[in-house]
Amino acid sequence: TVHICWFRRDLRLHDNAALYYALKEGIPVVPVFIFDRSILDQLEDKQDRRVEFIHNAVEAMQQQLQEMGSSMEVFYGFPADVFRKLAEKYNIEKVFTNHDYEPYAKQRDAAIQQQLNAAGISFHTYKDQVIFEKDEVLKDDGKPYTVFTPYSRKWKAKLNDFYLKSYPVEKYRENFYRQQAQVIPSLTEMGFEAIGIPFPSSATRKEIIKQYKEQRDFPAIEGTSRLSVHLRFGTISIRELAKQALALSEGFLNELIWRDFYHMILWHFSHVGEDKAFKKEYDFIQWRHDENDFHKWCNGQTGYPIVDAGMRELNATGFMHNRVRMIVASFLTKHLLIDWRWGEAYFAKKLLDFDLAANNGGWQWAAGSGCDAAPYFRIFNPYLQTQKFDPKLEYIRKWVPEFEGFNYVQPIVQHEFARKRCLEVYANALKKD
Ligand code: FAD
Repeated sequence: TVHICWFRRDLRLHDNAALYYALKEGIPVVPVFIFDRSILDQLEDKQDRRVEFIHNAVEAMQQQLQEMGSSMEVFYGFPADVFRKLAEKYNIEKVFTNHDYEPYAKQRDAAIQQQLNAAGISFHTYKDQVIFEKDEVLKDDGKPYTVFTPYSRKWKAKLNDFYLKSYPVEKYRENFYRQQAQVIPSLTEMGFEAIGIPFPSSATRKEIIKQYKEQRDFPAIEGTSRLSVHLRFGTISIRELAKQALALSEGFLNELIWRDFYHMILWHFSHVGEDKAFKKEYDFIQWRHDENDFHKWCNGQTGYPIVDAGMRELNATGFMHNRVRMIVASFLTKHLLIDWRWGEAYFAKKLLDFDLAANNGGWQWAAGSGCDAAPYFRIFNPYLQTQKFDPKLEYIRKWVPEFEGFNYVQPIVQHEFARKRCLEVYANALKKD
């Protein structure tokens, strides 16, 4: 008899809730990872670096497991089929896994649970990727918060050592199922290709966190942690990071709270993950649906240097600084009046750290349609944003070197014209409600 620990967005063997509870029972635990075809088949880019990131992380786990005389079972397929195969090979008693709050994941897990239960196998799930989830931080009336500041206050009031404690997986390492190394499907077998550009390091840099508040808004410097891809795939533990944040910087802790907040919103208001505005009246906006302008935005050819710099950084590296994400998102939705869903989908394709909850939250915040969003009449002026946050134009020079020359494109739209058009269109839409 064995237990299974099914890894998804928690690709590490330390401080992992599901793994800890699986090992603790004293029955041999088989670690499992599935390259899920329901997700991978939808990726158009066969050089998608996220698949490469996951592959690297799984290989690193495999290495560690082999050093302990164990091995992970790694599959390329559909979860339902994989669990059928696993049940043929092993006598499974329980399956352990960590919560995943996205709509697809909720459906998948419900179906797998049913399938397993029908076969007499129980399914156990744990909170792992956030500090507080779902219903743990609620308003006094028991309803979910929709505004960040009071949510974060309650979050901080509730926090204590218990919630930051690591799960000491090491204590039970002898309980991994012993077997010879199992083969990991290669990227090529799955139709993908590695391009080998290095990923941001998972080392937490205390100096950056200490100076976070002063430096976080300047895209020309590395003033933010660049840990987002690691948080996305769980190659670092949120508890370890939150412990550091608590000791070093409240500003940094606040960002981790935003992360919990958006996961909580997605859980309670699942319509946001289904292409709907959080505030329903914003779905009356008459977007321009201008594909030409959209392509110029995607390719960093709008004639607004800060916007173009951001989009080029994204296209080249899979990362964009948060300040610039806000600027380009505001520009697309307000200056170009293009549906935030188009921008959201483009980011989803390109961002290494793409996460439905945070991405949707960020886009709806910029468009004004989200919970606790900027009021719609507050429209970022890209020139003023540049003066404030890239005063020496270093970030712009790096990504748009031609911006001062004749070959740089003319602005796609005049700022003042765009501002007025946006105010009119938004006001019209919101009147209807
Ligand atoms: P740091 O500033 O060092 O922050 C530390 C961590 O806190 C991040 O790694 C991230 O996990 C979390 N965090 C920070 N800001 C936010 C935020 N506003 N909301 C939620 N979590 C946050 N973040 C994603 O992880 N995935 C996305 O798909 C994503 N899409 C975004 C889209 C838009 C339009 C906007 C405005 C923001 C988006 N963000 C997203 C939030 C934020 O921009 C990134 O988390 C951040 O830039 C990542 O860089 P970092 O790791 O250096 O962040």
